[in-house]
Amino acid sequence: MTDIQHHVPDDLLMGYATGALPRAFDLVIATHVSLSDEARARLEAYEAVGGAVLDTLDEADLSDDCLQKTLAMVGDTARSDRPITTSGGTFPAPLRAAVGGDEDAVRWRSVGAGVKQCVLYSDDSGTARLLRIPAGRAMPEHSHHGTEMTLVLKGAFRDEDGVFSRGDIEVADAEVSHTPVAEPGEDCICLVATNARLRFQGLLPRIAQPFVGI
Ligand code: ZN
Repeated sequence: MTDIQHHVPDDLLMGYATGALPRAFDLVIATHVSLSDEARARLEAYEAVGGAVLDTLDEADLSDDCLQKTLAMVGDTARSDRPITTSGGTFPAPLRAAVGGDEDAVRWRSVGAGVKQCVLYSDDSGTARLLRIPAGRAMPEHSHHGTEMTLVLKGAFRDEDGVFSRGDIEVADAEVSHTPVAEPGEDCICLVATNARLRFQGLLPRIAQPFVGI
C-alpha cells in the first residue's frame, strides 16, 4: 500500500457508491480505491449508509422485487469493482480488466513531445485514457471545460497543487489552470478521466489539440 497524500473528494466517492458517475470516472475511482485503504473505508461507509436507507424502505413494506431493483441500481458499479489489490504489476485489478492486461499490454500512441496515450474508452459522458509522460517533461499549461480526474500509477508529477505519486488523485475543473510536470527519474503513467475537452493556453498546443484529441 502506498502512502497516498491526495485523496478522492467525498462527492465523487459518493457518486461512485451510488453509480451516478460517468463510466470513465468510475474506472478512475475503482482503481484509486484498489490502492487506498482510506478510500475503501470511506466507500464502505457510504455503502453502509445506502444499505441503512434500503432497510428503512423495506420496513415500509415494499416488495422484494422493488428492493432488488433498487439494490441493482445503487450497487452495480461498486459491487462489480470490489477492490482487489493485485500483487506485483503496475495496474490494480479494475484497470487491468479495462486494459486487458498490465502495463506491457497497453497499445500506446504518440501524441507529440514524447507523450503517449491510450484511450480506453470514450463516449458522450466522458473519456478514460492512460497517459505516459517522459521523466522531467512538462504537459502544456491548460484549464478545463469540465472535470478532469487524474490518478498516478507510476512515477510522479508536480503541478501548482503539489506532488502526486502512485495512488494520488487530482481533480481539476474550470477553476483550475495547471502545468503538470513529470518528476525526474521515471516516466509518469496516469489514468485520466475527462468529461469535456481541455482548454490549452498556448498557441501551439491549441493547434495540436485536434490531432492529440485530449
Ligand atoms: Zn488538467
